[in-house]
Amino acid sequence: MSQPASAGPGLPAIGGPRLFVAADLAPEAGIGLDVAQTNYLSNVLRLKPGAAVLAFNGRDGEWHCVVEAAGRKDIGLRARVRTRPQPAPGDLHYLFAPLKSARLDYMAQKAVEMGVSHLRPVLTQRTQVSRIKTERLAANAIEAAEQCGILHVPDVLPELKLERAIAALEPDRLLIFCDEDAEVTNPVKALQALPRGPLALLIGPEGGFDPAERRWLAARPGTVRLSLGPRILRADTAAVAALAIVQSTLGDWGVRP
Ligand code: SAH
Repeated sequence: MSQPASAGPGLPAIGGPRLFVAADLAPEAGIGLDVAQTNYLSNVLRLKPGAAVLAFNGRDGEWHCVVEAAGRKDIGLRARVRTRPQPAPGDLHYLFAPLKSARLDYMAQKAVEMGVSHLRPVLTQRTQVSRIKTERLAANAIEAAEQCGILHVPDVLPELKLERAIAALEPDRLLIFCDEDAEVTNPVKALQALPRGPLALLIGPEGGFDPAERRWLAARPGTVRLSLGPRILRADTAAVAALAIVQSTLGDWGVRP
């Protein structure tokens, strides 16, 4: 088993759990943690002084940090050395009709793992959920970012009615609209034929799109109506399937960071 890299003489090996923090990250910067983070490091992971933690804040890259003092209700964490620079943010907007809580948590986490840069809940004619807990979505996005090793936490945007959300897209942003009624053609070939550039992906609600919505969406310039095969997928399945195709044809799956 290869020895983890060291941050320098006398410093512990680099590595450890990844933690999203609010604090600025710089050499020797002390990092304030909230109650949940303190409890996680102190009482769940039971980290002791000298233990390594990888912290990121979405601005300053990823930093190797060291636990300085650890108690049940308090833990000291100090940044030592930057392990990865802050990458440029991605540009893949994910528009989705929200689902009920547990499946929405799942869909939000999968979207982050699949590399979306913005999550925009949209309220369509047949959306069954009216009130979105934005802070819950944001917490899911942070948890997924910590788990999948990214240094940007996607923006969770406030919900908008479908028409408003589409109108808010830049005119040059390609909209990939997954439509279970679209003619079944190979989605990979359909996307490979498109130019690279700013992207948005739209997944509808469990009840599907209303015919008027379908007509209206298809009329937007720069909109591609995409089939995800001959079967009706559940919205959270469709999200992962569509994001896999988008990332492998037009996105970052072929790009080494
Ligand atoms: N109206 C469907 C259910 C919609 S599934 C029914 O009759 O039961 C929820 C969303 O997933 C759809 O709005 C669409 O965005 C996406 N989706 C599901 N299956 C799809 C497919 N085969 N092709 C394209 N999109 C699909």
